[in-house]
Amino acid sequence: MGERFGPTQLHGIVIPTFLPRMDLLSSTPFWPIQDGLPASYPALAGDAACEVAVLGAGISGALAAWHLAEAGVDTIVLDRRDVAHGSTAGSTSLLQYEIDEPLHRLARRFGPERAARCYHRCRDAIDAIGRIVGRRGLDCAFERKQSLFLASHRGHLGRLEREFAARRAAGFAVEWWSRGRLRAESSLPHPAGILSRDGGQLDSYRFTHGLLAAAERRGARIHDRTAVTRTQFRARGVELRTAGGARVRARHLVIATGYEAESFLPTPHTSLQSTFALVSEPLAGFPGWPARRCLIWETADPYVYLRTTPDDRVLLGGYDEPFRDPRARDRLLPAKTAALVRRFRQLFPGIPLPVAYAWAGTFARTDDGLPFIGRHPGVPHAWFALGFGGNGITYSLLAAEYIRDQVLGRPNADAELFGFGRASLR
Ligand SMILES: Cc1cc2nc3c(=O)[nH]c(=O)nc-3n(C[C@H](O)[C@H](O)[C@H](O)COP(=O)(O)OP(=O)(O)OC[C@H]3O[C@@H](n4cnc5c(N)ncnc54)[C@H](O)[C@@H]3O)c2cc1C
Repeated sequence: MGERFGPTQLHGIVIPTFLPRMDLLSSTPFWPIQDGLPASYPALAGDAACEVAVLGAGISGALAAWHLAEAGVDTIVLDRRDVAHGSTAGSTSLLQYEIDEPLHRLARRFGPERAARCYHRCRDAIDAIGRIVGRRGLDCAFERKQSLFLASHRGHLGRLEREFAARRAAGFAVEWWSRGRLRAESSLPHPAGILSRDGGQLDSYRFTHGLLAAAERRGARIHDRTAVTRTQFRARGVELRTAGGARVRARHLVIATGYEAESFLPTPHTSLQSTFALVSEPLAGFPGWPARRCLIWETADPYVYLRTTPDDRVLLGGYDEPFRDPRARDRLLPAKTAALVRRFRQLFPGIPLPVAYAWAGTFARTDDGLPFIGRHPGVPHAWFALGFGGNGITYSLLAAEYIRDQVLGRPNADAELFGFGRASLR
C-alpha cells in the first residue's frame, strides 16, 4: 500500500494529526434525546502518562478501553466531543453479520474460506456483545433478532440465490423465504428473502456510556471535551498534545476516531457517505412485520434498513449519498425523510409512520466492505480501530478484542483478516 513515509522517518516527527472537527451528524439523532447524558467526564487538565491512550470515545474507543481495562492495562481515553457524540449517537444499531459486501462476492475477492471467516467473525462479534452486556448487566436494550435480507426486485433474485447458497455452504443458519412465504407471513412486496437467525440490536449510545463507566471502574481514565491536536511519534511510544496544552505520553496509541481518522493515514482508504435516518413515534402495532419484528434490509443500492425499538418505534435508515459537505447533506434531509416514509408505506401499508425525529449522519465505505483493524506500517506504536461501513458496530468489537490481544502479546487468528495489508491479496 502506498507508504509516503516509513516508521523510522516518523520517529520524532510531529504530525498535526487532526483535521478540523467534522460535522458528523445533523438534526436530532434519537438516542441522546431518549437517554439524555448518562455521564460526562472531566477534560484533561494536566500532563499524564499511560500504557495505552485510546483516541475517541465512540463505540469503538469504548469497546477498546473496556477490553484493555478489563485486562488490567493502564488506559486513558480522550475525546474532543462529549463521549458517544460522534457517529455512535446517530447509529440505528442493527447488529448483523451480513456486511455490505455479500458473502458470495467477498468469496470472489478473497476465496470462499477467508470470506466465510470474515462473516463468522462478525457473527461471533454479536455473540460477544451479548456476553458483555449480560456479564456486566449493561442497560442498553440489547436483544437478539433475526435478520431478513430481501431481493428488492425480480432482477436481483439470481444474486439472492447465490448469496443463500454461499451462506448455507459456510454453515450459517438461513432460511429461504419465497414470494409465497413472504405473502403468507408479511405485507412485504419483495419476490424473495433470506432469513438469518443470528442478528441483534441495541442502543449504541447507552452501550457506549455503559462500557466507559465499566472501564472507569476498572481504572481507565476518561476525559471528554479534550481535543488532541498533535501527535508525536517517538522511538518508544507517542506523545499527544491537547488543545488545552496538556501532554499525554503513552506506550501505545489506539486510533478510534471513526470517520475522522484519515488524517493519520498516508493515503485515503475510504469514501465518505451520508446516510439518512428517522425514528417514529411509539406505534400501536406492527401488522405485516414478520419474524417477531426482525431486522430488515434489501439488495438495492442504496438500500433501506429498518428495525423496531423496545418502546415500539420504527427506526429506519438508508438512501445513502456520497458525502460532499454537511450543508449539502442537510439540505437533502427533508426529501430523504419523505422518501424513507414512502418506501416504508410500500413495505408496510398497514402501519402508520408518524415521524418523531429525523437526522443525517456520515459513515465511510471501504471498497471491499471490510474494516481496517490493526497496525499501519507507516504509523508506529498505533493500532487502528476503524469499524468502517454500515455494520461498523460488529467491527468495533472485533477491533477491541484484537487490540487487547496485541497489547497483551496474545496470538489472534484475525491478524491478517482485516488488516491494511489485505489489499495485496486481491
Ligand atoms: C445514521 C447511521 C446509521 C448507522 N447504522 C448502523 C447500524 O445499523 N449498524 C451498525 O453496525 N453500524 C451503523 N452505523 C455505523 C456505526 O454507527 C459506526 O460504525 C460507529 O458508530 C462508529 O463508532 P466509532 O466509535 O468508530 O466512531 P465515532 O462514534 O464517530 O467516535 C469517534 C470519536 O472520536 C472522537 N475524535 C475524533 N477526532 C478526535 C480528536 N482529534 N481528539 C479527540 N477526539 C477525537 C470524536 O469526537 C468521536 O466521538 C451507522 C452510522 C450512521 C451515521
